[in-house]
Amino acid sequence: MRQRAARDQQRLDSGAGISARDLANLQSEVVSLAKRQADLEDVVLEVMERLEGAQERVTELTERVSALEAKLTDATARRDAATGELDAEAAKVTKDREVIVASMPADLMALYEKIRVKQGGVGAARLYQRRCEGCRLELDMAEVNEIKAAARDQVVRHENCGRILVRTADSGI
Ligand SMILES: [Zn+2]
Repeated sequence: MRQRAARDQQRLDSGAGISARDLANLQSEVVSLAKRQADLEDVVLEVMERLEGAQERVTELTERVSALEAKLTDATARRDAATGELDAEAAKVTKDREVIVASMPADLMALYEKIRVKQGGVGAARLYQRRCEGCRLELDMAEVNEIKAAARDQVVRHENCGRILVRTADSGI
């Protein structure tokens, strides 16, 4: 388009062998080409501005993706560390339990397992200040007296929930 305008302008400038009508036509074409060029330049400018805006958005989004990826990496590392700690703790608890089970009389373990299955995983509970910590119910006087009278190594159970009661110095009896 620029070339065409330049060629027209050249013809106009030289003025050689041009009729008045051709001259008017050429001038009109030059004017219209100049206007079209200006319009196209506006379009190019607008496209460049939009491209710039899009590039800024791409930069912004790329930064956000990087930040989120860093957060994800951090959270994954913390989750893995916590899982490792839990696995180690579970292994230790399992081992400790095995040692304790091995030292218990077989019939007491069998009773404990039976109650444990029936009572949602808790077969024995601490008796704390006359309250069964398995079912949270306070023992009545008759029960307290019965437990008081029982030998230290006798297995005592809570009438309400059936759990084995573990007596300590804080049992309140
Ligand atoms: Zn109970």
